Amino acid sequence: MAAQQQHEPERPDSKGDANTPLLELKQLQTHFFSDEGTARAVDGVSYKILPGETLGVVGESGSGKSVTALSVMQLIPQPPGKVVGGEILFKGQNLLNKSEEEMRRIRGNEIAMIFQEPMTALNPVFTVGDQIIETVMVHRGIDKASARAHAIKMLELVGIPSPSTRVDEYPHQLSGGMRQRVMIAIAMSCDPSLLIADEPTTALDVTIQAQILDLIRDLQKEAGMSVLLITHDLAVVAEVANHVAVMYAGKVVEYATVEELFDKPAHPYATGLFRSLPDLAGPNEALATIPGMVPPATRFPSGCRFHPRCPIATDLCKTQEPDLGSLEGSAGRTIACHHIDEAAKL
Ligand code: SF4
Repeated sequence: MAAQQQHEPERPDSKGDANTPLLELKQLQTHFFSDEGTARAVDGVSYKILPGETLGVVGESGSGKSVTALSVMQLIPQPPGKVVGGEILFKGQNLLNKSEEEMRRIRGNEIAMIFQEPMTALNPVFTVGDQIIETVMVHRGIDKASARAHAIKMLELVGIPSPSTRVDEYPHQLSGGMRQRVMIAIAMSCDPSLLIADEPTTALDVTIQAQILDLIRDLQKEAGMSVLLITHDLAVVAEVANHVAVMYAGKVVEYATVEELFDKPAHPYATGLFRSLPDLAGPNEALATIPGMVPPATRFPSGCRFHPRCPIATDLCKTQEPDLGSLEGSAGRTIACHHIDEAAKL
């Protein structure tokens, strides 16, 4: 695999001790219960985000990326879903021990989230200004006139032209790219420590995608916040992330710096992901697809969940689940695979 030329995304001034994780997930498990059985959508996920850094979480649909993020926000519909194990440490405190009222204060104020399709997250019957004003008044307790002035400032900050006019427009009057900017303005309006962005550019055309990524990066640099970026798009990760967690079937299978991963992925699934991308495969490498599909969360295979699709699976892989362990000679890089040496030759 050809190494991709990577720039190192700058780690901005942080909002906390640079070496103490802002967010740390420890063996998080979120399951969904139905007549069809138990879907173990998130099943022992551990990763951390340092202050001021961007963690990219990648994987195919059904890998558990978004359910993990919704678990952090405690927005899992219950029932049928439930966080059944693990810890979500935010600034050292386990969010799973917080009351709903405490979580309401944290959501939007300390942790904000933007989604793929802003039209579903924006309220169509309120102006964009009202939606920012509402957020700021709830979380900051300031009067309406100050909140409106802040809303106009936020719209200007995210690059909306004529913000003092646009503030009184409704979501349907804006383009898709402008709506995503409004979502970012709402998310940033209370100066959060952590922004969770779930496929923020997937619904946008390529030019607008680049603008939105630039915007997130600029705002992050200015505000010193951390970003948890969920995407299926490795090119997006290459642009903005410091670290990457690769997820498969409800678990993290590899965690590495963006440079390590793009130089040479270590886990066979991560290697397969890279080989299936036209922009990231080397010039002489034929594109390959990973055979098979992500298994449904109600029927994960025994042993290593990737074994039915893995080109180097052995009998051990079929029966014994690999733990996430350190990769020799690489500080902080972890991989869940029984056959790391063979995987390196892929
Ligand atoms: Fe493949 Fe086995 Fe490694 Fe799983 S543990 S990725 S099946 S080699």
